Amino acid sequence: MRRRVVAGNWKMNGTQAEAAALIRGIEQGLGDVRRTEVLVCPPFVLIPIVAEWLGGSRVAWGGQNLSAHKSGAYTGEVSGPMLRDFGCSHVIVGHSERRALYGEDDQTVAEKFRAAQGVGLVPILCVGETLAERESNETERVVARQIDAVVGMVGIGAMDSAIVAYEPVWAIGTGRTATPEQAQAVHAFIRGRLAQTSSTVAERLRILYGGSVKGANARQLFAQPDIDGGLIGGASLDAQEFLGICRAAD
Ligand code: PEP
Repeated sequence: MRRRVVAGNWKMNGTQAEAAALIRGIEQGLGDVRRTEVLVCPPFVLIPIVAEWLGGSRVAWGGQNLSAHKSGAYTGEVSGPMLRDFGCSHVIVGHSERRALYGEDDQTVAEKFRAAQGVGLVPILCVGETLAERESNETERVVARQIDAVVGMVGIGAMDSAIVAYEPVWAIGTGRTATPEQAQAVHAFIRGRLAQTSSTVAERLRILYGGSVKGANARQLFAQPDIDGGLIGGASLDAQEFLGICRAAD
């Protein structure tokens, strides 16, 4: 049985006061969520205070991105060792907004994945197709390419200390969720592809769904056999909504 995970991606949102209220709300309502792993990924500048508030709590925290480099002349970047220094356990890698808006290609994403694992961070590798790709029946080809780029660089064994998030680009922040059946089909495809190399790793891998998940649709999504939790954007900014998703996962 794979342990469920619910991860909140706050994206570029939140003042210190808003983050404080959100964290307080999540912590207060988490009492009945017993088995699911819960984590939040705030913007970099909020990580130190989130770390302070969450220290000793069962909610983990992570980054939304990292540099492939450890340190040096990379103005504006934040490295894996820096995230570790602030207590991060996870980091999102290859989010579709990074791929689309900041030109991160499969090679860059694989390098970031490797950099994350190199310092003991668990990468949450995001994969997913655009609407045009889905409509031209390219979903599997795109997702396979994104996964293969990483496995080709780090090897199948590295997937044992990673999480994958299937996030169809057309469902992110659009209010348009993949149906549970659509999501399950891609999750099963991802697991099956990895199983060609190692059925043990494939069976253990947690694959999260992301794309307009809300308290109201989470339960049906998480009922699918290959959906092991969610990567939550918009709804992770509302404590009650986020808690509803955590309870659905639990
Ligand atoms: C995300 O940012 O990864 C995401 C899935 O966003 P949303 O839940 O808002 O669609």
